[in-house]
Amino acid sequence: MDWKKLSTTKITEVYSRLFLNLCYICHTKAKTTLCQSCKQGLPSNHTHCLQCKRPTYVSNILCGQCQSTPPAYQVCVAPYRFEGIIKNLIHGVKFNQRNHYIRPLTTLLSEHLMESYSGKHWPEQLLYVPSHPSRIKERGFCQTKALATQLTRELRHQLGDKCPSLTKKNPIKKIKNTQAQHSLSRKERLKGPKNSYVITSPIAKHIALFDDVMTTGSTIEHCTKLLLAAGAEQVDIWVIARTPDKEHQI
Ligand SMILES: [Zn+2]
Ligand SMILES: [Zn+2]
Repeated sequence: MDWKKLSTTKITEVYSRLFLNLCYICHTKAKTTLCQSCKQGLPSNHTHCLQCKRPTYVSNILCGQCQSTPPAYQVCVAPYRFEGIIKNLIHGVKFNQRNHYIRPLTTLLSEHLMESYSGKHWPEQLLYVPSHPSRIKERGFCQTKALATQLTRELRHQLGDKCPSLTKKNPIKKIKNTQAQHSLSRKERLKGPKNSYVITSPIAKHIALFDDVMTTGSTIEHCTKLLLAAGAEQVDIWVIARTPDKEHQI
């Protein structure tokens, strides 16, 4: 870490989170990363499609897309909607170098994963959907790598040897520098990330594929198919949030 680049504000922020036990958002006293009232204000993805976790108005349904074209993955964990506090935290990490927002996000996801996988088999390996090398160079880091690294730390703390492994070299590589998903129209996004990613090293049979946000799901679907073609038998999707899709809500 280049300490000279850290501003005094950032050092104060890190200090107050580490030593004073303050909520990462509102700075009031909190035992965990977020205080109770901030936690209550989180946009929970309470009603969603049973399979792809697309936010819906009613629960226990399969969305139209999953009925007509079922996704290649069976398990999808997406505890929040991409709005409100969650959107601010993810944008903070991605665009404003607010790296101290990584921990509250991964803590929330790991709590949800512990519940979802209770009594079930955990994936053997954790992979993340990477950014293109030129975007990593521009931003200075890959946010999905940073989030997946912290998530593994927290899961290992609770799961020990059962924790999915995160290899130093992520087996998925982005080879085409496509425009950011959020800046495209739905039609453009659905055209998909064809030939944008490749699998570059051997993978386990049961994979967890992590991304911070799932929008149309076309990137996740593309990467899942690549992983299945490369020898995986099951790919579970782990995302922090799903974007509410106004045109397709039920
Ligand atoms: Zn708070
Ligand atoms: Zn669905």
